[in-house]
Amino acid sequence: MPRPIQAHIDLSALRHNYEVARACAARSGGLSGVWAVVKADAYGHGLPRVAGALADVADGFALLEIDAAVALREAGFRQPILLLEGFFDRRELHVCAEFGLTPAVHRLDQLRVIRDAALPARLPIYLKLNTGMNRLGFGPEEMPAVRRELAETEPFLSSVTLMTHFATADDERGVAWQLERFRRMCSGWNLPVSLANSAAILRHPETANGWARPGLLLYGASPFADEDAGSLGLRPVMTLKSRVLAAREVKPGERVGYGGAFEASRPMRVGVVACGYADGYPRHAPSGTPVLVAGARAATVGRVSMDMLACDLTGVPQAGVGSEVVLWGEGLSADEVAAAAGTLSYELFCALARRVPVVETGGEGRTRDETRGAV
Ligand SMILES: *Cc1c(COP(=O)(O)O)cnc(C)c1O
Repeated sequence: MPRPIQAHIDLSALRHNYEVARACAARSGGLSGVWAVVKADAYGHGLPRVAGALADVADGFALLEIDAAVALREAGFRQPILLLEGFFDRRELHVCAEFGLTPAVHRLDQLRVIRDAALPARLPIYLKLNTGMNRLGFGPEEMPAVRRELAETEPFLSSVTLMTHFATADDERGVAWQLERFRRMCSGWNLPVSLANSAAILRHPETANGWARPGLLLYGASPFADEDAGSLGLRPVMTLKSRVLAAREVKPGERVGYGGAFEASRPMRVGVVACGYADGYPRHAPSGTPVLVAGARAATVGRVSMDMLACDLTGVPQAGVGSEVVLWGEGLSADEVAAAAGTLSYELFCALARRVPVVETGGEGRTRDETRGAV
């Protein structure tokens, strides 16, 4: 038997979650389209597989790695493709024009570069406005200059969509404060908009008009600390599974793992699982982080090492060598594991290591060719 770790990617759950995003965003009453945000290799789920599974439903794909965008085009995807961080240099601008990519524009000098580029065709752009995230985009004080430069650039553009990004859509501070700034900055403009990320789509669907931009929710995790993915109607896409490699009795006072960080206070049975931080499991997950062993909840003990972690099987007598372990996914949400490890499911997904073999499920009856590039 090969090393037993596997990441199962449930493509039917992915499609289900995309439809949840669409149904929720449609409540805005003015939905134009739903980008599937597939940056960072589709949040670690594998871009070709995710794009393939969504090919006949997704209105467009949003990401920021230009090589990945070009690979989508070369694989036959014809939907709009949005580059969330825009183009980084003149060469990339020409790649945008050649492959029909839509870049975000967030600095004035980028408008000048567009004017000077002598592109073969007019370019669609997303104009990024900074309404309080203070990451990318034009602030209120820059708007007069933006309007001037944009007017000059107009002959080179096929469309302009106004985009902003919410910083607190997932908590009680909400989105109203940023929306207010957005409205003020865009007054008098009648242009399409793109505002809502996963948290805004789910909790503030009125902001999902225009083009919504769900990422995390597509992968079946919750953007909220106080509401789990299941109660939002989402299904986990990634399940990281492995097996118990060894089981041993440990006496009180004995320690487990590097640094002897965990000490048994009673006789216990410890299972060693073939999964470590080189597989993408968070090294800083403390003793007590939940795992599922043979379908029952158990907890990790000691430090996570590169290729293994240990868990307490004392309360799971049916478990032993060969028992299946779910690290996160079906039956144990990535959000819960992430919270125990002091991080977010975003980070767990993106950290899935290349050495972990992937098994696709839920794609039955749909061959690769049927799902490719169809619009
Ligand atoms: C990543 C990203 C999103 C998606 O965010 P989620 O919280 O994963 O839904 C949307 N818009 C922008 C600009 C992003 O960078």
